Amino acid sequence: MVLKLETSTIKDWNGYNGRPFLIAGPCSAESEEQVMETARELLKLKQVSIYRAGIWKPRTRPNSFEGVGVSGLKWLRKVKQETGLMTGTEVANEKHVYEALKYGIDMVWIGARTSVNPFTVQEIADALKGVDVMVFIKNPINPDIDLWTGAIERIAKAGIKRIAAVHRGFSTFEKTTYRNQPNWQLPIELRRRIPDLPLICDPSHIAGAREYIHEISQKAMDLNFDGLMIESHINPEKALSDASQQVTPSELYELLTRLILRSPSTNDPKLLDVLGELRQQIDVYDDHLIDLLEKRMKVAEKIGHYKKENNITILQSARWDEIVRKAMVKGTGKGLSEELIDTIFKAVHQESINRQMRIMNEDMKNHNGSDKK
Ligand code: PEP
Ligand code: MN
Repeated sequence: MVLKLETSTIKDWNGYNGRPFLIAGPCSAESEEQVMETARELLKLKQVSIYRAGIWKPRTRPNSFEGVGVSGLKWLRKVKQETGLMTGTEVANEKHVYEALKYGIDMVWIGARTSVNPFTVQEIADALKGVDVMVFIKNPINPDIDLWTGAIERIAKAGIKRIAAVHRGFSTFEKTTYRNQPNWQLPIELRRRIPDLPLICDPSHIAGAREYIHEISQKAMDLNFDGLMIESHINPEKALSDASQQVTPSELYELLTRLILRSPSTNDPKLLDVLGELRQQIDVYDDHLIDLLEKRMKVAEKIGHYKKENNITILQSARWDEIVRKAMVKGTGKGLSEELIDTIFKAVHQESINRQMRIMNEDMKNHNGSDKK
């Protein structure tokens, strides 16, 4: 499925001056002074296109700082007047949209806790009909690509032309290094589905801690994301929300200068020649892989028939353990990562089980059928 939405490409957007399209500003607007000082410092970077600040904050637990509300919009309007920066804030219902528009907000984003809910996304889409603002749609907190795609479609159907998807990672139960798991395959799949849609990475919310923001931003640039949304606060330690993941404007500047920007394509004929040849090799190996998988599955099916005839269960844990252990030793010995071996072998094993299940169930159906006779 490839979707063609009636949206404009980011290169045509007002304020776009090359990769990364940068959105920066505090997690939350806290006071006029904090908003203005942060904006003045960020303006000096010369790379910020949109100044962000949350006015209504979706907090996990009650009794945390829930945002300053409408008064913060006045400060954002002042930022725009004084610095010329475009402004953006989060909206989570139609009232937020109307208020934000009243104060000349240029970009609204739909947060991760809102994009999970089609009712709310539709309510926001309806409120945005006929309005020319930028709308950024964060991924839902759960790794559901259809839900993310659906939210984007709803906003596009409302006639919004400047839409971007924001990758902010996915929530997990287990404690992991990052606050939210990047699951890079999801934004990659989104780009495959909607190739023209601008893709922005929010490394702050993926990281949860400032020391990881650079590596995540670099990865996003290497995956050809169009832009970055990074939380920046004049005094991060004192921030009322997301204190550990915010950076000062000068730390942001330093982080950006360390980013290596590789070009997404090349016209150099020599390079293209080399790349073309290497890609041919990849195609050959990928063909081999598919042939091998087909052969392996045929054998798995034979085993399925054999198990069925001899009344043996499909899952043989000891045998499976042995396969993974052997593959791990051999694979890591050849420089392949444990993650790769684990992912591939789990997927292959699951497919074998599915096929054997089908074989068993066919048997069950026939068996039940013959019982009834
Ligand atoms: C934010 O950008 O401050 C925010 C609340 O984001 P998310 O919806 O990604 O958690
Ligand atoms: Mn935040």
